[in-house]
Amino acid sequence: MSIDMATLALMGAVQALLMAIVLWTSTGSYAGVARASLRLRAGALVLEATAWVLLGLRGHVGDWLSILVANAVMLVSYAMTVHALRLLLGAPSRQRVVAMASVAGWLAIAWFAWVTPDFQVRVLCASLVILLDLGLLIAPLCDSLRRGGSAAKRVLLATLSIAVAMVLWRNAEPLLSSRPAAGLLAPTPINVIYMMFSAVQPLFTSIGFLLLYNETMQAELKSLARIDPLTGVNNRLALIEAAERALEVAMVDGRPLGALMLDADHFKTVNDRFGHSGGDKVLLSLVAHIQRVLGRHDVLGRIGGEEFVVLSPGSGVQQTRALGERIRAAVENMPLTIDGHALAMTVSVGVAGAAPGESDVAALLQRADAALYAAKRAGRNRVMATEDIVPTDTPTPA
Ligand code: GH3
Ligand code: MG
Ligand code: MG
Repeated sequence: MSIDMATLALMGAVQALLMAIVLWTSTGSYAGVARASLRLRAGALVLEATAWVLLGLRGHVGDWLSILVANAVMLVSYAMTVHALRLLLGAPSRQRVVAMASVAGWLAIAWFAWVTPDFQVRVLCASLVILLDLGLLIAPLCDSLRRGGSAAKRVLLATLSIAVAMVLWRNAEPLLSSRPAAGLLAPTPINVIYMMFSAVQPLFTSIGFLLLYNETMQAELKSLARIDPLTGVNNRLALIEAAERALEVAMVDGRPLGALMLDADHFKTVNDRFGHSGGDKVLLSLVAHIQRVLGRHDVLGRIGGEEFVVLSPGSGVQQTRALGERIRAAVENMPLTIDGHALAMTVSVGVAGAAPGESDVAALLQRADAALYAAKRAGRNRVMATEDIVPTDTPTPA
């Protein structure tokens, strides 16, 4: 069976182009880091296809096109892929080192094409840059695989590891073979296998990218669904999840867990005076001042319009009460001006502690809410704990 190397190169190009279309059309209208990454990889595939066409045209077009331009395009394509995957994995981009290595490698390729023509040395120059790129792709993958495996990362790691083996084999060939290849299109075993792998590689990396895109997008959406859009703190869903986790930890460790619920006093009057947007500014200021007095492990969440909850792992009722007092004082003293008008703001705080072995988040928050209600009834701008409640404070069913 005779294998036409130019046809293999062309097959690689067609495969890369098809995959570029698949990746580009898969991104949809969702605008996040995952989409930027997928589009970068789609662009890289278009360049990869262009490079394969140019390489396959060796002998039919000028060497400047089939060697110089083809290698430049291939190296840019690799650089874009490195950027795309590192973006998707949240790793630093390393674009400067990739750019410098690519330019140096390309200049060396040009030297060994024109000044002292040598195919094997050209392969070595391109390979050194490609190995660096592959290393920059594999390292963050291994890192994130250590933190948690996924099919996407395994597919990508397997494909990239085979690519490393191919590159090493290509460079070792002159040492192993009595008749090393004189050019990329010479049908030696390694050239044939290299070309075949290069033809299917876009398919496998694209599957990996798509799976990883899906995972990253789901993680992005999951975190977006847990952030309060106005203040950027945890929303009710995230707060409840955090409370469930904190109660589990408290149960295992036997340590206390404090919860406090706070509500801005007479907030309606702020909205009435300064409109909804003025009220929003006050809420942002309120959150900033609360955050300043929180400890490292305290968790803040917005559970309603101007109602917030703070979970304080490791704090008993007295410590949580002290934290509530610090919050109350910080809000009372916060300098606040809306549209040039000075404004005073206070909060009422209800404190509850998790009973040993307690696992019911709703019951804990309900006790903090009852204490908050008592603080409101007692005149606002104060901190009250569950045990401060006298029976008449508790709302009675009609
Ligand atoms: P109280 O001291 O009893 O808590 O009095 P209050 O006026 O604060 O009463 P309440 O807590 O019932 O009112 C909350 C108000 O907060 C009503 C609503 O218009 C306003 N609000 C809810 N969400 C937002 C928001 O996102 N932005 C703004 N600006 N206002 C909001
Ligand atoms: Mg209020
Ligand atoms: Mg309220």
